[in-house]
Amino acid sequence: MGLHTASRLDRLAIGGEAKALKAGQLNIGPRLMLGLAVIIFSMLAADAVVLWQFHLVRAQAKRLHGIDQKLIAVLRLHTSLTTFHDQMEDLADSQDIGGLVTEGEGLRTAVLEDSRRAMSAFSLATSDFQRDPTILPILHAVQSALPAQLDAITTLAKAGDWQAVRQRLSNQVTAMQSVTLALVERVDHEVGEEQAQTVRKIERVQRLVFLVVPLTALFTLLIAGTFGLGVTRSITQPLARLVEGSKALARGDFQHTVPVTGRDELAELGRVFNDTARRLQDLYATLRRSEAYLAEAQRLTHTGSWAWNLRTGELYWSQEVHRIYGLDPQIKPSWPWFFDQVHPEDRARVEQQARMESIEKDWVVSEIEFRAVLSDGTVKHVHAISYRVTDDSGETAEVIGTIVDVTQRKRAEAERERLRQLEAGLAHTNRVSMMGEFAASLAHDIKQPIAAAVTDARTSLRWLQRNPPEIEEAREAVSRVVNGVNRAAEIINHLRSLYKKGAPTERELVDVNEVAWEMLTLLRSEANRHSISMHTELAADLPKTKADRVQLQQVFMNLMLNGIEAMKDTGGELTIHSEATEHEQLLISIKDTGVGLPTEQLDKIFSAFFTTKSQGTGMGLSISRTIIESHGGRLWASANAGKGATFRFTLPTS
Ligand code: ADP
Repeated sequence: MGLHTASRLDRLAIGGEAKALKAGQLNIGPRLMLGLAVIIFSMLAADAVVLWQFHLVRAQAKRLHGIDQKLIAVLRLHTSLTTFHDQMEDLADSQDIGGLVTEGEGLRTAVLEDSRRAMSAFSLATSDFQRDPTILPILHAVQSALPAQLDAITTLAKAGDWQAVRQRLSNQVTAMQSVTLALVERVDHEVGEEQAQTVRKIERVQRLVFLVVPLTALFTLLIAGTFGLGVTRSITQPLARLVEGSKALARGDFQHTVPVTGRDELAELGRVFNDTARRLQDLYATLRRSEAYLAEAQRLTHTGSWAWNLRTGELYWSQEVHRIYGLDPQIKPSWPWFFDQVHPEDRARVEQQARMESIEKDWVVSEIEFRAVLSDGTVKHVHAISYRVTDDSGETAEVIGTIVDVTQRKRAEAERERLRQLEAGLAHTNRVSMMGEFAASLAHDIKQPIAAAVTDARTSLRWLQRNPPEIEEAREAVSRVVNGVNRAAEIINHLRSLYKKGAPTERELVDVNEVAWEMLTLLRSEANRHSISMHTELAADLPKTKADRVQLQQVFMNLMLNGIEAMKDTGGELTIHSEATEHEQLLISIKDTGVGLPTEQLDKIFSAFFTTKSQGTGMGLSISRTIIESHGGRLWASANAGKGATFRFTLPTS
């Protein structure tokens, strides 16, 4: 029962404490203080229980002592009464009246003293012991009877009746002796009982002490242990969670949150930790976003970045640099590797620049363009910029820079150059082709001064054939001849300058679709300028034709430019179509959605010098028809069902 109650109490105490600790409601300091107070209190309680048990034992011992005192008092009374009787008897036997009176008085005093002691011992006795109510009256009787007896004995002795003295001694005093003896026996009996009872009580207390002391010790230990465990857990568990969180953070797992309960320091720490982790996560996300934007920007602009820390020797290359060089992102590049990649023809220049950067102390930005030969043999054009970062003392701390892949730009430049040359070539051809048409009109111009020169020469001859010859008239005629011939020579020179580039190229197998694409590329910006979209409907696997490529370009350009000019105010669509016909011919059409053909003068548009434009020459269609016909084809125009016109031409397949 006792054990059961203790364990229940224990459970209750532990439960309450654990609850307070578990919730982490108290700060760690007060929690430890509370626990310490609980331990001290339970130890004090245990001590109090033990002390109480000792007090019980002591009370029993004291009681035993009191009982012994009573027994001793009664024994002493009996002994002094016996002594009184024996000595008085001896004095009676010797009939010593003087001795009897003097000694009798002393003995009486001793007996009375002992009886008083006994009475006071019994009157102080505890109520549970004083079970026999006759004891005190007996003592009282002895005390009051003895003086009377002594007086009577003394009187008898003085009267010389020693017989009566002896008789009184044996009757009265002996009777008193037997009363005190009986009292002694009774007290002894009661003392014996009391002693036995007290021993039993002490034994019980002893047993109780044996039970209570270990129990209270166990109880205290249990409370201390439970408390210690509770406090330790309430500290170690959140600590372990914090450590786990820190490890997750170190791994870069910013999603990890520490579970928080209560309001103690560790809970506060947990909250701060979670808050910090959240902020870090936001920062990390922003960083990742910026990094992604930067990487995307680098990818789009083909710009890689690099940084070289001169103190640590650490070299950083962005992903884009790896991509430009076609390098595995896991591989760490190095300067020797970098110089190895430089094109042999550019290496000396790049190395010289690097030497300058390492020797010169006052450069800030330097840039260089060179070619890099990749491991697969691809050649890339690279534009590198270096920027020197100095520390407070002006020493170079770091060099940072960019590497831009300018290969596409270089290709575009080369392409532009090619197109420019093509344009120049076409312009030249244009002039040459136009010469065919101009020749007729120019012949007239040449014919006229030559005819005039011939007439003047004849006139001069006539003046010279006169007698006397008309020298002055002849000289004037001859100088007119010179002027006329000079004019003709000028016209011829002019013609020669137009042919300067030489004879037309020889005919070759030409892919007409390819020529169409070239012209589309050339005229795209012009079309864009007037909001004109250009479409192709080019037949795949179109047979080639034997033609003068440059002249074909000329035809495409004339027809496409006419289409663009017809739509320049309204915008529209220019469609280039190619197909192979059944009659081993290629049919090419150029269709626009422009102003349409001048219906009244439809038959004149292919004539030289016919134009409806203020800045027109009227030569384009005429030249184009001449070229196409010289290639064995045909060129014609028709009005569209809707808006605009379509120009078609045929060419024989090779
Ligand atoms: P130019 O373009 O210098 O006028 P062309 O010989 O190329 O000389 O053209 C002659 C004329 O034919 C043009 O002035 C124009 O009236 C007409 N023409 C040519 N192409 C078109 C077209 N696509 N749409 C409408 N009219 C055209």
